[in-house]
Amino acid sequence: MSAPRVQGADAIHVGADDLPARADVLVVGLGVTGAGVALDAASRGLEVVAVDAFDLAWGTSRWSSKLVHGGLRYLANLQLDVAHESAVERGILMETTAPHLTRALPMLIPLTPSVSRSAARISRVAMTLGDLLRVTARTSRRTLPRPRRISAAETLALAPGVRREGLRGSILSFDGQLEDDARMVITIARTAAANGARIHTRSRVVELSGSHAVIRDELTGTERRIEARAVVNAAGVWAGQLVEEIRLKPSRGTHLVLKGSALPGMRVAVMAPVPGARNRFVFVLPQPDGNLYVGLTDEESDGDIPDVPEPTEAEIDFLLDVIGTAFERALSRDDVVGAYAGLRPLLDAGGSTADLSRKHAVLTSRTGVVTIVGGKLTTYRRMAQDAVDAAVAQRGLTAGPCRTATLPLVGAAPRSELARIEAPARLVRRFGTEAPAVLGNARRVTGFSDAELLAPLAPDVPTTMAELVFGVTHEGARTVEDLLERRTRIAMVPADAELARPSAERALELSENYLTS
Ligand SMILES: Cc1cc2nc3c(=O)[nH]c(=O)nc-3n(C[C@H](O)[C@H](O)[C@H](O)COP(=O)(O)OP(=O)(O)OC[C@H]3O[C@@H](n4cnc5c(N)ncnc54)[C@H](O)[C@@H]3O)c2cc1C
Repeated sequence: MSAPRVQGADAIHVGADDLPARADVLVVGLGVTGAGVALDAASRGLEVVAVDAFDLAWGTSRWSSKLVHGGLRYLANLQLDVAHESAVERGILMETTAPHLTRALPMLIPLTPSVSRSAARISRVAMTLGDLLRVTARTSRRTLPRPRRISAAETLALAPGVRREGLRGSILSFDGQLEDDARMVITIARTAAANGARIHTRSRVVELSGSHAVIRDELTGTERRIEARAVVNAAGVWAGQLVEEIRLKPSRGTHLVLKGSALPGMRVAVMAPVPGARNRFVFVLPQPDGNLYVGLTDEESDGDIPDVPEPTEAEIDFLLDVIGTAFERALSRDDVVGAYAGLRPLLDAGGSTADLSRKHAVLTSRTGVVTIVGGKLTTYRRMAQDAVDAAVAQRGLTAGPCRTATLPLVGAAPRSELARIEAPARLVRRFGTEAPAVLGNARRVTGFSDAELLAPLAPDVPTTMAELVFGVTHEGARTVEDLLERRTRIAMVPADAELARPSAERALELSENYLTS
């Protein structure tokens, strides 16, 4: 087992008062894309400064379905290159760079009377093609087992709430699932910092060209100028606000949050076809914290881009209606304990957002800013590679080759090694090989016993004090919201966030000495 190691507390800088005056590469945005670009560039030996106006994972990256997609949906649209790229990146994440943050998620399409026999045959063929994608991407069957048809009895053992009348069985397939999307962004950002990148939150770019930026410290209001040999704009749906040539057509995706008790015993994801639509499903996705997410919609989103998008009433009703077709128990508004929406940063290329290609694009502006948009969480690494390649070529930077396909994120190790770590399973899932150090850090900072540090913060809230303390000391959290909304995802259920608020305040208080020492 590798020795517990943990990156220094100053890895994430909050505010811009100590921002360097120059860098090889300035990265704007610390969602999954910007964090990925920072890691790619830093690991090639470039001096990198990466900034976010708010916090790590503030934007779209924390509102995803948390799936590591194999690209099946793109195969259906005959986008073979996008599908293959997705499958390759899924394999890299699950087998090399982030085994600790990913797992195989079993997914069922229950063959209820509303799924015709021909629709079932098509789904079966699609799942077989999905498995072929896995094979061509050279991802092991141990990582993602083969799809198969299962009986009605097996279906009910895996998902007891599924509608029984006329149930002919299910198609069972596997895709990747993230422990949490924001956690992956934080882990990538910390890996970038460990490779020498300067990561600054609460640092807003207010002026940008291909060779400089003016950055406002959002804590003090002070503005600073930074010169950069290359500038990468990874500001997601806000990218067009920094570079006027960029035209985006965001689409909104909404999810509901239910407590596990709404559909007891669900060990797998369940997919219900959207009536009348081809190749569209509503999913129930069981989460590692015991909640269930129900998603997702794909609606064009016109007008201003809010800091935090809100689901509409119509989207909530749509999701409840479609998922209701697959389960015995009718789900109602009373079951919905939270809801969230995110905006996909899709390029405006005409057509409806549901049909727009999810392939990413690298665009260079008149002043030389390299913008990277589109894509998805799963393909962040490849997006970063393409953006840094473009910046290096365009600015004639001296840089090594891309290393990220074989560079494990902090805490990563082979699954067999993760299984042997002597620490609570929850911490290993979230911090991998760092789990013992996360607990050791909290002991040192608080003087609390392990029982106090590892107890669930509230009934139904499995997050621990050890995680909150680490969020402050090593992950740049400075407010209760940073802790409840991004270092942990307790705030996905607002009532749970209220229960956990005193613990988050306490973690900030207890860590204060550590931060000022
Ligand atoms: C509902 C939904 C579900 C999805 N599900 C999946 C999924 O299951 N799997 C998958 O692979 N992909 C999924 N995706 C796609 C994926 O989430 C996005 O493609 C990805 O998160 C985009 O990341 P990003 O870093 O480009 O943008 P963002 O995460 O939005 O990051 C942009 C950052 O830029 C910062 N910023 C903006 N302006 C400035 C400024 N002026 N100065 C400094 N910083 C600035 C913002 O604060 C923000 O943090 C989903 C998307 C949606 C909407």
